[in-house]
Amino acid sequence: MRYVRKICPVCGNEFTVLEKMEEKAVYCTLRCFLESQNKMSEDEDSHSLSG
Ligand SMILES: [Zn+2]
Repeated sequence: MRYVRKICPVCGNEFTVLEKMEEKAVYCTLRCFLESQNKMSEDEDSHSLSG
């Protein structure tokens, strides 16, 4: 089986996935996946009162 290296767009962590899973595995962990979803929904809100 072949593995490919990918860079997580959320945390910048490098991780390896099976070549046939490359298209599905975008984030290194499920947590990063959820975080990316949150960012998308919070994009409209430009307030930054709490860091
Ligand atoms: Zn990540």
